[in-house]
Amino acid sequence: MKSDKKGKLIVFSAPSGAGKTTLVHWLMNEIPGLVFSVSATSRKMRPGEVNGKDYYFLTADEFKEKIKNNEFVEWEEVYENQFYGTLASEVERLRNEGKNVVFDVDVMGGMNIKKMYGDDALSIFIMPPSVEELERRLRNRNTETDESIKKRIGKAKYEMQFAGKFDKIVVNDDLEEAKKEIKNIVEEFLNK
Ligand code: ADP
Ligand code: 5GP
Repeated sequence: MKSDKKGKLIVFSAPSGAGKTTLVHWLMNEIPGLVFSVSATSRKMRPGEVNGKDYYFLTADEFKEKIKNNEFVEWEEVYENQFYGTLASEVERLRNEGKNVVFDVDVMGGMNIKKMYGDDALSIFIMPPSVEELERRLRNRNTETDESIKKRIGKAKYEMQFAGKFDKIVVNDDLEEAKKEIKNIVEEFLNK
């Protein structure tokens, strides 16, 4: 359905393990009319993930082909040989339907989307209470190898330096508090 009014963009970024997926899934159920921008990735599917819902899962070659054809608004090699990107077709389709689009992207991707869309976008950085707690959450989640956890922690320390570039920072210490905070921030932005 076409709409006269284009949808807004709500961008969440965080170091891996900070609780972004948990918060974004909750918010999508809490505020009616939000839609999720499904990214493409070349990483392997995790148990429980669904192609086309969590991500469009591509091979590295398929991903590179789309880079060549300029099909991404932004893309990053988030981890070595693991590409992630936002498809322009996905964003435009949803926005043209007047839908407010939620993004779950890495820190560089979040800053790029904000730069591109300016006041149409709200960028939120989900901050872990500490690096130690981040590591504990990643270990408890049981989805990463030791090596992958080390990589993610190293990257997290780097990424946390960019928090100040985001419109809002939400510290995810107490989960219920963080939920309330993001709901308030997003509702305020949508009602502007
Ligand atoms: P991300 O998407 O940022 O990588 P997840 O949402 O997968 O992070 O959260 C990482 C792990 O931490 C998950 O096991 C999740 O259940 C847990 N978690 C999320 N928020 C909190 C919180 N406030 N306190 C304790 N554990 C949390
Ligand atoms: P995961 O492998 O845990 O699903 O995601 C790893 C990281 O890639 C997360 O920080 C996630 O937000 C990021 N990511 C997911 N999709 C995109 C995207 O389209 N672009 C960018 N730049 N990062 C993404």
